[in-house]
Amino acid sequence: MQKERIHIFDTTLRDGEQAPGYSMNLDEKIRMALQLEALGVDVIEAGFAIASEGDFESIKAVCEHVKKPIIASLSRSLEKDIDASYEAIRGAERGRIHLFLATSDLHLKYKLRMSREEVLDRSTKMVAYARNKIDDVQFSLEDATRTDLDYLCAVVEAVINAGANVVNLPDTVGYASTGDLHRMVDTVMNRVPNADKAIIAVHCHNDLGMGVANTLAGLNAGARQAEVTICGIGERAGNAALEEVVMNLKTRGDIYPFETNINTEQITQSARVLKQITGVKIHPSKAIGGSNAFAHESGIHQHGMMANSLTYEIMTPESVGVKKTSLVLGKHSGQHAFEQRLGELGYSFTKEELSRLFSEFKNLADRKKNVEERDLIALVESAYQGAPTIWELDSFVVNSGNLITSTACVTLKKDDEKHQEVAWGTGPVYAALRAVEKIVDHPFSLEDYTLQAVTEHRDALGEVFVKLRDERGTYRGRGVSTDVIEASILSCLAAINKMVDGAPAKQEHPFKPTNDHSFENDMLMNNSDKRRFM
Ligand code: MN
Repeated sequence: MQKERIHIFDTTLRDGEQAPGYSMNLDEKIRMALQLEALGVDVIEAGFAIASEGDFESIKAVCEHVKKPIIASLSRSLEKDIDASYEAIRGAERGRIHLFLATSDLHLKYKLRMSREEVLDRSTKMVAYARNKIDDVQFSLEDATRTDLDYLCAVVEAVINAGANVVNLPDTVGYASTGDLHRMVDTVMNRVPNADKAIIAVHCHNDLGMGVANTLAGLNAGARQAEVTICGIGERAGNAALEEVVMNLKTRGDIYPFETNINTEQITQSARVLKQITGVKIHPSKAIGGSNAFAHESGIHQHGMMANSLTYEIMTPESVGVKKTSLVLGKHSGQHAFEQRLGELGYSFTKEELSRLFSEFKNLADRKKNVEERDLIALVESAYQGAPTIWELDSFVVNSGNLITSTACVTLKKDDEKHQEVAWGTGPVYAALRAVEKIVDHPFSLEDYTLQAVTEHRDALGEVFVKLRDERGTYRGRGVSTDVIEASILSCLAAINKMVDGAPAKQEHPFKPTNDHSFENDMLMNNSDKRRFM
């Protein structure tokens, strides 16, 4: 059977990043993009160039670091959005401008206040404008699934004539059924005379839990690009999850005669990188990516599994990169075994980094009898701090109890000089962070704090994620220790080091949005709305 190629368009860095709790800075976007490249996605939507200076700069940086996939930037159907996108992606090996405009009567009437004719006209003009700059232009008909089908077909035909290479039919609000999706794509494939001149794409949201099912229905009807995110993150209830779409295609090849370029063994690592960057835990029952996804607890299942794994296993854990054995390391493990383990987990480090990590590992092995794979990952991930070490923890003492006010005495090092402060608080973490704030003399607020046990045992490592804010923005930090107060201080210092790290000289954004254009006012130009699209 001839398998048709499905293009995987990943929008973790755009639609996913728009979701609360998932925003990423420039270094984090590069790290995620490099992992997406290793995973084998065809297109990375790296951001929305005109939305902010940060988006613009990070799209540019992704283009510099990531060479295999196409790098796309989102644009409204406005010349200056297209100009900004073009500036951001012009350094890419292969760049794509992704335009969108809503086509449903609901959006036309209440959001755009434009007629169908005006939308059709603007779509084709802007596609042609973008094609004058770059060869690869994608056009999305926002709210396609609630758009009149005759009108939808007319717009698809017109934008393909104007030069769009990819036409996306998003279920922007997650309203469609699988039947709706199939009918819409099937109608376009059969009725639009030039439909074969472009790739038809689907972009499905999960508001009714239908994102993956709708995406598969769209592919079966003829769409050849699936727009997805790692772990299904995205606006509101999220997008179709990449790993679920891809593993459906792979596991059910009998009904999906398709192939992708995805190296499925990189799926687990991709989910892990996303979790480590954002600090947001993956639900244990999450299909493919969750920690329970391949666990067989019940006795009946275990018995069947031992007789023949096919009894209860439709895909192997190894096929998505979950390693079967979890070899335990202890304090007698040598550097060689340690390095080998890191290699198996997909990490590579320089000699200096390895010897520093090894000494941290020895430290941990002294405090904790068995070092498991999850401990190693937490330890190694805390080494990725994305900023130079400016402030370092020297020592701390906390005094805490239910009858006293907590106090903390913290000593930090900077350039080999020690600085000490004492502070009180209603709890030991609060007291310790206040002492840190006094020392670094840089006011911040704590926006988020999560503490997780890395493993189940009493001597487990505690992993703390914090999000700190100063007047310039938010900074994430991670800290790992068998002592949760120490982990809290370390996570806070990781964020502070980013905060005080010589801020990149503020560059004037070349495409500052203005309010001088009445059409733009209709297109939601105010800052609060700017990041809410598609
Ligand atoms: Mn979307």
